[in-house]
Amino acid sequence: MNYELLLRECNMKVTPQRLGILAMMCENGHISIEDLYVKIKKQFSSISLATLYKNVNAMIDVSLLKEVKLPHMKSKYELAKTPHAHLLCESCGVLEDLEMDMNEVSHLLASKSDFKVNETNLIFSGTCHNCQ
Ligand SMILES: [Zn+2]
Ligand SMILES: [Zn+2]
Repeated sequence: MNYELLLRECNMKVTPQRLGILAMMCENGHISIEDLYVKIKKQFSSISLATLYKNVNAMIDVSLLKEVKLPHMKSKYELAKTPHAHLLCESCGVLEDLEMDMNEVSHLLASKSDFKVNETNLIFSGTCHNCQ
């Protein structure tokens, strides 16, 4: 993936830190800010947690990254891709993607309720393959 191009397409300044954050998101799939901070520190020893937050939030604003809000846990972050559901292991905390047609879920909801949805966050909690 060409992160430089991705940033440019979003009218964002290309900085080594941003490129590093995107590469780590890609490598790790889903990652918490704390874990990301530990990893990014090895590459950019002078970066502060506040700067990391600022960069991550700026990239969320332009839909490059997405926050995955988790029940009873700190959020994890991922590269934005087609909307999907998540599987959360309650034992080891691993988060997996589940490809699902989220439009279908929205249609189902629209057919059953006049609730107006702003955001869909579908998470299945349970036990992953390794922990079973
Ligand atoms: Zn597990
Ligand atoms: Zn995901």
